[in-house]
Amino acid sequence: MTSQATSRAAGTAAAERREQAVRAAVEQGLAGPDVPIVALLDTASIRAGAAALRAAFAAVTDAPVLHAFAVKACPLVPVLRLLLAEGLGAEVASPGELALARAAGIRPTATVLDSPAKTPAELREALALGIAVNADNPQELARLDALVSSAPSASPLGIRVNPQLGAGSIDALSTATATSKFGVALLDDGARDWVVGAYAERPWLTRLHTHSGSQGVALSLMARGVRAVYELAEEINAAVGRQQVDTIDIGGGLPVNFGSDEETPTYASYARLLKEEVPGLFDGRYGLVTEFGRSLLAKHGLVLARVEYAKSSGGRPIAVTHAGVQIAARTVYAPASWPLRIEAYDAKGRPKQGPPVAQDIAGPACFAGDLLAENRPLPLLEQGDYTGVLDTGAYYFAHHYSYNSLARPGIYGFTATADGVGFATVRDPQPIADLVEEAGGAHADALL
Ligand SMILES: *Cc1c(COP(=O)(O)O)cnc(C)c1O
Repeated sequence: MTSQATSRAAGTAAAERREQAVRAAVEQGLAGPDVPIVALLDTASIRAGAAALRAAFAAVTDAPVLHAFAVKACPLVPVLRLLLAEGLGAEVASPGELALARAAGIRPTATVLDSPAKTPAELREALALGIAVNADNPQELARLDALVSSAPSASPLGIRVNPQLGAGSIDALSTATATSKFGVALLDDGARDWVVGAYAERPWLTRLHTHSGSQGVALSLMARGVRAVYELAEEINAAVGRQQVDTIDIGGGLPVNFGSDEETPTYASYARLLKEEVPGLFDGRYGLVTEFGRSLLAKHGLVLARVEYAKSSGGRPIAVTHAGVQIAARTVYAPASWPLRIEAYDAKGRPKQGPPVAQDIAGPACFAGDLLAENRPLPLLEQGDYTGVLDTGAYYFAHHYSYNSLARPGIYGFTATADGVGFATVRDPQPIADLVEEAGGAHADALL
């Protein structure tokens, strides 16, 4: 099979497992009148995605590659543990994300810390643990100078650079613009010389980092970013006369297809493109780090939400469901950039039949714009039916937004085989008592 046919076949198999899981979730009471929203993760698909990532890079280089999953894409300990079992590490950007990675058992040597605002305490902890750190800017590098001279550390250290190649189609996610907040802007006056000098003065700087892709960024632009960082590494190594930069961190950012079940672009196509565009990066002189997030999880999760009411307004049918801004803030606030596929299921969790009718799919929050889709043609949803909000495994239900004090839904991993569907709890639904506590319940008199 061609790789395209393979990714299409894998997509079809995943869609079949999803249908089985939705049906079983309703049959087993994971979703129902009293549990009107639940999130599901396809365990086998997550494993397969991680394996595909490893295979894609193993096919283009013999050098060591650390695939550090960007924890922010799906900050759930059991997911991190599953990815660890598939040979992945973690890219973290806050004390919370580091704690999650550690709780999942990810070793410091498989962990990378990259945030634009690391405090002295965070840097000290990272160096004490031996976690790799990419300094974002000259002030952070000065903090590393002080730490490195005060205590020995096993941490591989580097600098994050921004090749300033331009934006993708979503401004808020474009990291490689001229004025991006991330990293040292390489094309700014004097910046390149400053970076080369910084390495020449610090033999302990052995890594170089960029993360120039994201949703909406073309692979060709990402590859140019990787080439820019490779050329800089070569320039540094030539200037110091040895292979001081021994590892290049190419970031993540593989975009995801939100339009169908097909998983494109594939890791294999990206790795092949990189090898074509930047052959020297793969000749064995450089170790590699990758930091993929969205592409490892997005297509492997969905939200199942009950239709509480089906109504009509101004002639338009509206399904009022329990999935809205609290699980899909990006889609609700920026619908043109973040459209999501929605499936219609009947009250038993079976695919809903019927001619397509343009309808609005609304969430439970109290503002008019809380819509996951407007005028979407779907079989007409009725009270007690379900919607499946697809491709929400990254940056959606794991990124709860507590508007209207809506509780976080439970998250379950499923394995769907010919023998049936098994569910494993990834995260319990949030109890209302927790919500009260988070909302200062313990300090009820504080303002009297
Ligand atoms: C967000 C982020 C990633 C992951 O990006 P995806 O688009 O989810 O693959 C990787 N590295 C850094 C530094 C990031 O900020």
